[in-house]
Amino acid sequence: MNFADLGLSEELLQAVEAAGYTEPTPIQAQAIPPVLMMKDLIGIAQTGTGKTASFVLPMIDILAHGRRRALMPRSLILEPTRELAAQVAENFEKYGKNHDLKMALLIGGVQMGDQVKALTEGVDVLIATPGRLMDLFERGKILLTGCELLVIDEADRMLDMGFIPDIENICSKLPTNRQTMLFSATMPPPIKKLSDRFLSNPKYIEVARPATANINIVQHKVAVNARKKREVLRHLLQTDNVSTAIVFCNRKTTVRELAKSLKRHGFGAGEIHGDMDQPARLAELERFKSGDLNILVASDVAARGLDVKGVSHVFNFDTPWHPDDYVHRIGRTGRGGASGRAFTFVAPEDAEAIDSVEKLTGHKIPLFDLKIEDAEVPREAKPKSRRTSKVREEREEPAERAPRREPRAATEEPRRERRQRRSEPEPADDGWNGPVPEFLRVSALA
Ligand code: ADP
Ligand code: MG
Repeated sequence: MNFADLGLSEELLQAVEAAGYTEPTPIQAQAIPPVLMMKDLIGIAQTGTGKTASFVLPMIDILAHGRRRALMPRSLILEPTRELAAQVAENFEKYGKNHDLKMALLIGGVQMGDQVKALTEGVDVLIATPGRLMDLFERGKILLTGCELLVIDEADRMLDMGFIPDIENICSKLPTNRQTMLFSATMPPPIKKLSDRFLSNPKYIEVARPATANINIVQHKVAVNARKKREVLRHLLQTDNVSTAIVFCNRKTTVRELAKSLKRHGFGAGEIHGDMDQPARLAELERFKSGDLNILVASDVAARGLDVKGVSHVFNFDTPWHPDDYVHRIGRTGRGGASGRAFTFVAPEDAEAIDSVEKLTGHKIPLFDLKIEDAEVPREAKPKSRRTSKVREEREEPAERAPRREPRAATEEPRRERRQRRSEPEPADDGWNGPVPEFLRVSALA
C-alpha cells in the first residue's frame, strides 16, 4: 500500500515524501479514503500508530478549496493537552508546506494576542484545547458557525481529563451538517455515547484491539524490591543498549528524586512532571528531543501523548496504577514501525497493579532474567538488611562511575542522527525552546 493509492493530491504526496514517510500506517490507509469522501469517522488505534496524519493529510486536501473568513475558522481540531496541540500544529506545517492554508493554535499558557489576530484575519485550521477555546468563545472572539470539519483527537484522554462537557458544548455550537472525526486509543462507554450523539453514520475503523500493546515493543517485567529500583534501573540503562529512554514514575516526588539521582550518577537525565510550568516542560522536552538529554523521567500527566521519536526504551519505575496508563506509557517506544523495549518494575506491593495490566492487555508479561546479584525480590525487607544494603550501594558509587559513561557512548550514533534529522528544514521544531514557541504564533503554513 502506497500513499499514492489513497487519493491524496500531488502536492501533498510531495510533502509526505519530504517528511520521509514511505508507507501509510494501517490507520492511515483505512481512514484517509473515507475522510476524503467527507464521511464521519471513528478511528480506534493504539498510541503511536500514526493517527495524526490520518486526519491531517486528508484535511489539507479538503481545505485546499474554499475561502477563509474573519473570526470563523473553517475547521477545528480539539486536543487534550497543549503539547499534543503543538504537535498537531507541527504536522500541519510539515504536510501543508505546499498549500496556502492558515492555521491558529489556541492553547493555555501562551499569550492570546497573536492568536486572536490570526483568527481575526481568518484561518483554515484552528487547533485548540477545549478550555481555551470555550474561554475565547464566551468572550465573543470567535464564531464556530463556519466550522464544517471537526476532529476530536485523543478522546479517551479528553475523558480522563474531564473535558467531555466542554466538548459537548463545543459540538452544539458547530453547524450540524459538518464532518466529524473522532480518534482514540480506546472506546470507553462515555466516548461511545459522545460519538453516538455527535457523529452521523460514522465509518468505524479499529486497527487493533483496544488496549493491546504494539507488537513492535518487547515487554518485560522485572521483579525488584522497592529499595533496589534505582540500582536495577542504572544496571539496565548501562547494559540494555539504551539510546534514549523515558522512565515513568507514579508520583511527582519520585520523578524529581530519581532524575536527581540519575544525574548524580552521570546520566544525561531530565524530568517532566505536573508541578513544572509550561515553558519549563517544553524546554526540558526540547532538550530531550534534541539529544541533549537521553533519559527523561516523567509522570503520566506530563508525558501524555508526547510524540518523541526514536525512544529505544520505556521503563516503568513503578507499575502504573491504572492499566490504561501502561499501554500509553509503553506506546512511547516502538513508534512508526521501529522496535522498542519496555521494562516494568514490579515490587511486591505492585502485585495487584501488574495483575490488572496483564488482564487488560490479555497476556502475561515475561519476567526478565536480571543478571545482577541481589536484584531478586526478597520475601521480606528486613530493616536491618536495608541499612546494610544502602551503605553498600553508596560505597559502590565511585567504583561504578567509569562504566556509567558507557550508555552515553552507545547513544552517540542515534543522537547524531537525530540532530542531523532536526537540522533539516523543520522550522517548527526550533520553536519549542522557549515560553512562546515560534510556531505558536505562526498563522501561515507556507
Ligand atoms: P498517535 O496519534 O496514533 O499516537 P502519531 O500520529 O503521534 O501517533 O504518530 C506516531 C509516530 O509515528 C510519529 O513519530 C510520526 O511521525 C510517525 N509516523 C506517522 N505516520 C508514519 C508513517 N506513515 N511512516 C512512518 N512513521 C510515521
Ligand atoms: Mg495522537
